[in-house]
Amino acid sequence: MLFRTHIAFSFLAGLYLIDLFNVDRQILFMVVLLFFSIFPDIDESSSKVFKKLRPFSYLAALFGHRNIFHTVYFPVALFLVLFVFELRLIAVAVLVGYLIHLLLDMFSKKGLALFYPLSRKKVKGFLKVGSFFENILFFIVLILIVYKLLV
Ligand SMILES: [Zn+2]
Repeated sequence: MLFRTHIAFSFLAGLYLIDLFNVDRQILFMVVLLFFSIFPDIDESSSKVFKKLRPFSYLAALFGHRNIFHTVYFPVALFLVLFVFELRLIAVAVLVGYLIHLLLDMFSKKGLALFYPLSRKKVKGFLKVGSFFENILFFIVLILIVYKLLV
């Protein structure tokens, strides 16, 4: 999925979560959620997050695109550490942002192996990254964001 698609979906989810959990630090929650919704692509050299987080991204890229940074271990471990240190709001934002990224990537034709290296079985979808259909989805989410902000 494209950068903007990840951001749009996560922003929409963040708006609903802020309402659902009655989040008081809304900007912090949303910034963390959005950051972690794009963070997994740190392992992909053409991504925006890769370019912004150099030189750390060079290390991440050693593992290959859609490998260890596109598994469930990293977000769950981060969530647990933050939760133990009583940073529950941040923990939820990290987990949700990261998992939304993984969920969206599962809809792409390339797919994801969520439990790599324990299992190399990929969950694959039908979407081609940057395709017409992805753009349609992006605009539908934009409309839903505007609707949510106005209602
Ligand atoms: Zn990704």
